[in-house]
Amino acid sequence: MQRYDYLIVGAGLFGCVFAHEATKAGKTCLVIDKRPHVGGNVYCENVGGVNVHKYGAHIFHTNDKQIWDYVNQFAEFNNYVNSPVSISKGKLYNLPFNMNTFYQLWGTKTPEEAKAIIEKQILENGVKNPKNLEEQALSLIGKDVYKTLIKEYTEKQWGMKATELPAFIIKRLPVRYTFDNNYFNDKYQGIPIGGYNKIIDGLLEGIETKTNVDFFKNKEELSKLASKVVYTGKIDEFYNYKFGNLEYRSLRFENTRLEKENHQGNAVVNYNDGNIPYTRIIEHKHFEFGKQKHTVITKEFPEQWTKEKEAYYPINNEDNQNKYQQYKVLSLGEDNIIFGGRLAEYKYYDMHQIIASALQKAKKELNQ
Ligand code: UDP
Repeated sequence: MQRYDYLIVGAGLFGCVFAHEATKAGKTCLVIDKRPHVGGNVYCENVGGVNVHKYGAHIFHTNDKQIWDYVNQFAEFNNYVNSPVSISKGKLYNLPFNMNTFYQLWGTKTPEEAKAIIEKQILENGVKNPKNLEEQALSLIGKDVYKTLIKEYTEKQWGMKATELPAFIIKRLPVRYTFDNNYFNDKYQGIPIGGYNKIIDGLLEGIETKTNVDFFKNKEELSKLASKVVYTGKIDEFYNYKFGNLEYRSLRFENTRLEKENHQGNAVVNYNDGNIPYTRIIEHKHFEFGKQKHTVITKEFPEQWTKEKEAYYPINNEDNQNKYQQYKVLSLGEDNIIFGGRLAEYKYYDMHQIIASALQKAKKELNQ
């Protein structure tokens, strides 16, 4: 007996956007999630008025007006601009790599002075076709920035040598010859006023949702509830790891409430040094310009992933990509299962990209 058109496994952004679009098109959906709440990794917990990003900081940014308008249907966004700072060997630097950073490193005051140093360092290391993250960083920004702000952070974040990591990861960070500390190049950026839960609640309005439901504990029965399954979990787990498990990077968060107004003066402070076990401290109230008398900070500790832990980042190196391709071939042969999101597509997606992908897949599926 089929009761729903779609069973959506995972109430993260992909699942919620798909469910919303399908419902709008007149289909019936049941959304399940193994966690006790919906929202996946964008879920926020309210601690005395401070929205705490429980699964890591999420800053919305996009260049696509359609995606921006889409999320703005559910919540108004504030004008937060992400401008993290990084501490390396006791000194503070602005990110992303820009004229402020170069001044802090070398005392250079003009773009010409900074460019001359960077271009000299790029020439000196002689990398032509960067094959890994280290080579990519050296050929993009030179050895000083690499050593001060990239190498140790990256190696503790990923638990691997920078020479073993794919080059694309570092291309996420802009390099600028202006005094502009905005971490993103995108036209639209902000934090939803009232938190991400507001967007999730808006997407799921009127849709049946069940939390604390583990799909794998009851896969057969649950799948029978609907004509099709939209699966947003780990693709290797879906196929019972038959080609071996894909690798992920996990995180551990240590949250502390402090009875003071302002702990670090910024939402994001990165810690580059390898001997400090966390990569960054997030002070959540600054995402929303909070005026509370208390504050909440989160230390983010990268961890090796095991099957019991949350998989936060796919490790998209060659071995894992080859393995993923085998799973992907299987998934493409499925008639009644749609795979989507960071874990099912084994892709280092940002929020705006997940929404775009869910809208695209929903459109195709719903013949719109
Ligand atoms: N990164 C770095 N130094 C920093 C911040 C980032 O070397 O201070 C590198 C690191 O390899 C990291 C990548 O840039 O994995 C992407 O960082 P981003 O902050 O975009 O990642 P996310 O917020 O998704 O963890």
